[in-house]
Amino acid sequence: PYRGPSTSDLLKRRKQYLPTSVGPLYTNPLNLVEGKMQYLFDENGRRYLDAFGGIATVSCGHCHPDVVEAIVKQTKLLQHTTVLYLNHAIIDFAEALASKLPGELKVVYFTNSGTEANELALMMARLYTGCHDIISIRNGYHGNATATMNATAQFFHKFNVVQTGIHHAVNPDPYRGVFGSDGLMYAKDVQDIIDYGTSGRVAGIIAEAIQGVGGVIELAPGYLPAVYSIVRKAGGLYIADEVQSGFGRTGSHFWGFEAHGVVPDIVTLAKGIGNGAPIGAVITTPEIAKVLTYRYYFSTFGGNPVCTAAGLAVLKVIEKERLQQNAFVVGSYIKERLLSLMEKHEIIGDVRGRGMLLGVELVKDRQAKTPAKAEMLQIIEQMKDMGVIIGKGGFHGNVLRITPPLCFTKEDADFLVDVMDCTMSKM
Ligand code: PMP
Repeated sequence: PYRGPSTSDLLKRRKQYLPTSVGPLYTNPLNLVEGKMQYLFDENGRRYLDAFGGIATVSCGHCHPDVVEAIVKQTKLLQHTTVLYLNHAIIDFAEALASKLPGELKVVYFTNSGTEANELALMMARLYTGCHDIISIRNGYHGNATATMNATAQFFHKFNVVQTGIHHAVNPDPYRGVFGSDGLMYAKDVQDIIDYGTSGRVAGIIAEAIQGVGGVIELAPGYLPAVYSIVRKAGGLYIADEVQSGFGRTGSHFWGFEAHGVVPDIVTLAKGIGNGAPIGAVITTPEIAKVLTYRYYFSTFGGNPVCTAAGLAVLKVIEKERLQQNAFVVGSYIKERLLSLMEKHEIIGDVRGRGMLLGVELVKDRQAKTPAKAEMLQIIEQMKDMGVIIGKGGFHGNVLRITPPLCFTKEDADFLVDVMDCTMSKM
């Protein structure tokens, strides 16, 4: 039985000591005390099906026994900084990770978060090219430190950061974008930015393969290969932010960029890499990585033995339990069921995404696409009351985000969609 503080006490103290504009997500907040695979449990032992997975973070499942065992074993053995000494955990994981990436992407730098990984990637692109200008895509999210907050193109994720050398390109959003699904038309904006807003040379472009925080937006087909060739002609690199779309989540591919037929120069990872352990990574080519050898680049905990042991266990579980295939099969099934739900409920304006990175955009009017923001909050609250945790997102706050642990089953999928159906029917 739970003997911890009450929910009201936690809420009061959280407000006092951890004030933030984020959360708690629900009007009646969830007090989570335990996790097991695709389930979470509150203080009363009530079980919830987790269809959000800590924002696409839980790849194997909450507290997956193999990952827990790796963490406990390594914690008992050694938890230390690994930069100054040799230790096998960091090297084993770097080697395993590099084997999952194509081409020359074989050099790994570990960080503690996605923000740090993107900060490092942006710095490397700038050092390597000798240019300062970076292009990012409107509605994208890349982190909350100086460069990454600049690259993040949604006003509510920015404080008074001065925009330096970052240019935000028109979002190739097939649902709301002016050019629909025509990726090549959107790509022209990147050429315009380079021609009219820079010296003609840029450091690179950073992009998610599917915008997660932005509301699970799949970049219009043809966009990424086109902009990559434009940026490359301007001397720039392509940084693929795989923080949400990596590790098999998109089902059809291990990495999100692969579906676009492009090979990046730099790949950044976080979230799913550790199944909840705080770790991020930057992977690049030996040629680009040379820029970090001129100075002393150092992260005390980046790549520490415990987090890298966790990471290696995660990779093994993804392979052993065929989680990428599961993301494909079960994810496609969820999408199919959501599409049929769309025929029934007018409020669903769009269903999109791949594998287990899915979004349902809610609108008051399908023609005008007026965001159904209040309805969305009602739906996620009611779904929680019925035992399903789902995410919210999108610039207008009207997108239901489905990013479950990759061990989600077909039965879980049915329960998720049935509960969604039920709440929508009651609206
Ligand atoms: N990139 C993407 C695509 C993300 O979704 C996030 C986190 N939402 C980040 C980077 C930043 O990661 P972190 O919160 O670990 O700093």
